[in-house]
Amino acid sequence: MGKTEILKKKYPGIQYYDLKENFLMPGLINAHTHLYSTLARGLSLRAKFSTFKEILENLWWHLDKNLKEDDIYYSALIGGLESIKYGVTTIIDHHASPNCLNNSLDIIDSALSKINLRRILCYEVSDRDGEKIAQTGIEENIRFIKKCEKEKNNFSRACFGLHAAFTLSNKTLEKCMQANYNKSYFHLHLAEDNLDLEENLKNYNLSPIQRLNQIGLFDFPILAAHCVHILPAEKTILKEKNIKVIHNPQSNMNNAVGRAYIPEMLKRDIFILLGSDGYTLNMFNEAKIAPLLQRSYLKDLNAFNLDKLYKILFLNNSKIAGFIFNKVLGEIKIGAEADLIILNYFPPTEVNASNFMCHFVLGMDPSMISMVIIKGEIIFKDKKFTGLNEIETYKKSREVSKKLWRRL
Ligand SMILES: [Zn+2]
Repeated sequence: MGKTEILKKKYPGIQYYDLKENFLMPGLINAHTHLYSTLARGLSLRAKFSTFKEILENLWWHLDKNLKEDDIYYSALIGGLESIKYGVTTIIDHHASPNCLNNSLDIIDSALSKINLRRILCYEVSDRDGEKIAQTGIEENIRFIKKCEKEKNNFSRACFGLHAAFTLSNKTLEKCMQANYNKSYFHLHLAEDNLDLEENLKNYNLSPIQRLNQIGLFDFPILAAHCVHILPAEKTILKEKNIKVIHNPQSNMNNAVGRAYIPEMLKRDIFILLGSDGYTLNMFNEAKIAPLLQRSYLKDLNAFNLDKLYKILFLNNSKIAGFIFNKVLGEIKIGAEADLIILNYFPPTEVNASNFMCHFVLGMDPSMISMVIIKGEIIFKDKKFTGLNEIETYKKSREVSKKLWRRL
């Protein structure tokens, strides 16, 4: 960073681009997604989809059981390409493939290494496919955590995935806590639908939050996606235990699970992040929808202002991803990782620190992205990937998905 002439002298021979009137900003971070959902796009199944349980059983759990190596690889690679096209340079993924489990995180890691997308990966442990698969899921998380710890490369990190309280027995949760030797983040779904609340009340006489807190899970660092069906007193637990809540507004609306109490949680200073939950990979859209959902639902113009959105999308997402990577992410400053996006955005009015989010929400769009840089390297420029043939990759993905769909 510095004056052009000084930098040119200091680094002779370095590649130089005059970005003229283009707009430079840090790459976005997606705090919760499922890359394995990529090849479900356009899939039509004859099963019923009228409840959240039916969406899980008839679509996602049916899909994840049928995933093979090629499907995992291409869903990750295409999801990675699309993330970059949307200006996302770091993702936190949550993976499931119970019948192709061993080394599945390596398959995703290897696909994303083709485009150097920064990734924080985990495998979702669940008892829904039996005790043996749950145990293998635990081992896969630990194997990958150890691998990342040993390699400490620039692009891959791990957390410890758990599905959700309603598909995890106390015995399995105990095993996960015992296995999580270095206190990696547990990344799970929490109180997404009423189903999680009902099942936990029925089987344990406790809400999912009460139950996970009582068993000691919240003594570990927690990334909890959703937190829609929470009881009023449970906001205190979320705050006291410093739970990081990941809001996924479009997924919640799509699955008709209800509204997360984001304005209420923000008032209590609960830490909120933003993710897309595999519904989309477009974090511009996800961020734009978040305040609209709350304002519309609450009929309150001040329910969720853009300063709060800035804090969630740019500060909180960067803080957690940066903490897990042990690097400065999501900022443009000396010492930060050079993960940058450049947009052909020409503001019709002045842009300054206090009105940037207004420009982001009302004016900017991923179609304006002209360049994506990760760790100082140009990955995407002039609508093309620099190190990969995009058309051929999509062609192969359609072949692979055809075979997958035949099995569903
Ligand atoms: Zn999810």
